Amino acid sequence: MTQPLVVAVDGPAGAGKSTASRALARRLGFSHVDTGAMYRVVGVLARERAIVLDDDEALGLLVGGLSFAIGEGERLLADGRDLTDAIRRADAGELASRVAARPVVRTRLVPLQRALAAPAGVVMEGRDIGTVVFPDAPVKLYLTAAPGERARRRAVELRARGETIDEAALARDIAARDRRDSERAHSPLRPAADAVVLDTTTLTLETVVDEMERIARARLGASRP
Ligand code: C5P
Repeated sequence: MTQPLVVAVDGPAGAGKSTASRALARRLGFSHVDTGAMYRVVGVLARERAIVLDDDEALGLLVGGLSFAIGEGERLLADGRDLTDAIRRADAGELASRVAARPVVRTRLVPLQRALAAPAGVVMEGRDIGTVVFPDAPVKLYLTAAPGERARRRAVELRARGETIDEAALARDIAARDRRDSERAHSPLRPAADAVVLDTTTLTLETVVDEMERIARARLGASRP
């Protein structure tokens, strides 16, 4: 089987993965997949259906039949419903992180993510793309930034969507989410052994994307026959 053309981008919340991954995909002519959005959908639907977030039986039924599609302008459709706005609200990250710790959810979402590897190439972002979803990806990047800076960036993003944000509370939420994502038994957040770690704390978006592109082109070139 030929190696899928995957650039794996992992890292904690607020490290700038989404904006940078989207820009990188555009530069490389690859598609872009945000796997966090899929966990957010499961979290939001679980709450909507009043499912207790560690009820594996109910979660299994929820994810078992769930289908995802990307609509116009990267809108995310779950079973045909547009949940793009609901999954971006501040509380959706917490819900996502809680359901993402349940193996029953990951077991269903990981194959769906693997199926999204496009022949023309994909930049796929998440927490476990380089370690679990595509352990043989030719390019693995791990983006991180100081916790205070990550909270600041997330606050700017949420305020731009019209939410009222208490930055100290947001910083606490992000720290709790980091802890849960890093300490869970199943697919914890950590850089793959062969990932290039980029600390973006003091870097502009432009510099981050330049660096990602440089690494991706070098590695993609080296991995082709
Ligand atoms: O990246 P984002 O903040 O949208 O992710 C929401 C949550 O989904 C994360 O905190 C993490 O718990 C979970 N997630 C995951 N594995 C992925 C992507 C996201 O566990 N590949």
